[in-house]
Amino acid sequence: MARGVAPRQPARTGRQDKVSVARAPSRAKSILSHADKNSKSTLSRSKTKPGANPAKGTKGYNPIAPERVAEILKRLNELYPDVTCALTHASAWELLVATILSAQSTDVNVNRVTPELFKKYRTVQDFAALRPEQLEPDVRSTGFFRNKSKSVVGAAKKIVSEFGGVVPDDIEKLLTLPGVARKTANVVLGTWFKKAEGVVVDTHVHRISRRLELTKENDPQKIEQDLIKILPRERWILFSHQVIWHGRKLCFARKPKCAECALENICHAGDKSWSTVEMHKNAQ
Ligand code: SF4
Repeated sequence: MARGVAPRQPARTGRQDKVSVARAPSRAKSILSHADKNSKSTLSRSKTKPGANPAKGTKGYNPIAPERVAEILKRLNELYPDVTCALTHASAWELLVATILSAQSTDVNVNRVTPELFKKYRTVQDFAALRPEQLEPDVRSTGFFRNKSKSVVGAAKKIVSEFGGVVPDDIEKLLTLPGVARKTANVVLGTWFKKAEGVVVDTHVHRISRRLELTKENDPQKIEQDLIKILPRERWILFSHQVIWHGRKLCFARKPKCAECALENICHAGDKSWSTVEMHKNAQ
């Protein structure tokens, strides 16, 4: 954890454990000294009304103020400076397959399956020559294996027949492939082609963006549009990787490790496990 941004640890008495969602503990002021003093007003605590535009929060609090967003990005950089996609791959095609298989599964699960899979079927043409049923046993353990097999084989056939056997580096073309929606297309474009065409919104990005009040939306496409508006384009790719790692290491869906989180004193999530600042019940 980077120096200077570590939150206080929970009291042995456990008194911090269920901090009020309405009142900010008085000690929060000193905790806020961790944040950029010049941006204190926008990093400060106040309640947002349910359904209100976060840009027009009460008492001057604006969760998407550029200073607050910059502070979040700075701390993510300090926490996760060199992270990238955790799916094992050696080509755009392998990354595309791994991303399709990762739906409703974990990267660890997918990484158990793909090394053998890519030894057995070495090229996109090998996959295109299959019937989906032939692929099913190989991807069964990732879940939803019938649909995933159809998508992988369908995508391979289309890439061979329409794109000369080469995964396109164009979002519109990627979106025409079976089983490829914006999340998968953004993963391939961002991670392999280094093209920032959008922001990957997976379950971690969805959850943590809401907790950090960067969006009030629930639909991944709307969340992506909110993030595109407030994040600098050069951070679109890295932001997703960093938030995904944060979700895996600390900001769990259940019982996030807030006492160990470097974002703690600027995070007002309503479902924090521990807090030094006011919690906003809609921020979850
Ligand atoms: S909910 Fe907890 S772990 Fe997640 S960002 Fe906020 S303080 Fe960190």
